[in-house]
Amino acid sequence: MTFPNPEDHGRLAVHGENFFFEMGPIRPPSEGSDHSLLIRTTRNCSWNRCEFCATYRGEKFGYRQVEDIKKDIDVARALKEELQAAAGGRGGWITQDVIRGVWGGNPLLYGENSGNLSRKWQNLQNVANWLASGARTVFLRTRMP
Ligand code: SF4
Repeated sequence: MTFPNPEDHGRLAVHGENFFFEMGPIRPPSEGSDHSLLIRTTRNCSWNRCEFCATYRGEKFGYRQVEDIKKDIDVARALKEELQAAAGGRGGWITQDVIRGVWGGNPLLYGENSGNLSRKWQNLQNVANWLASGARTVFLRTRMP
């Protein structure tokens, strides 16, 4: 099992270190109840003045590049498709064995020296959890978390 495969994933041309997508550290409660997959289009908080919140204290707000956001969406889609394909032989359930199978079966993406593995592992787990909870919504985080 190897991915991304240009034949399977069309315009996706992301390999190795760049095979990840960015998520914010927190999200609005409504997105939590919907189990939305998070993909962030901005970094940090444009308000940053709530006294109880130190999440982005000292961090500068910024917009991400459209091409980078598109890449992130493509990566999330590739992960979704790969997990679904891997789960096909197990009755469709996204189990830890399915996740570990995708991880272990793709050394070019998840082997040594292939970038930030903890972030990639988190991406894989997040897409798996999103699929397991119905994959109904995606939250493109804009001005605030
Ligand atoms: S992230 Fe949310 S809670 Fe924190 S400062 Fe920004 S708006 Fe307030």
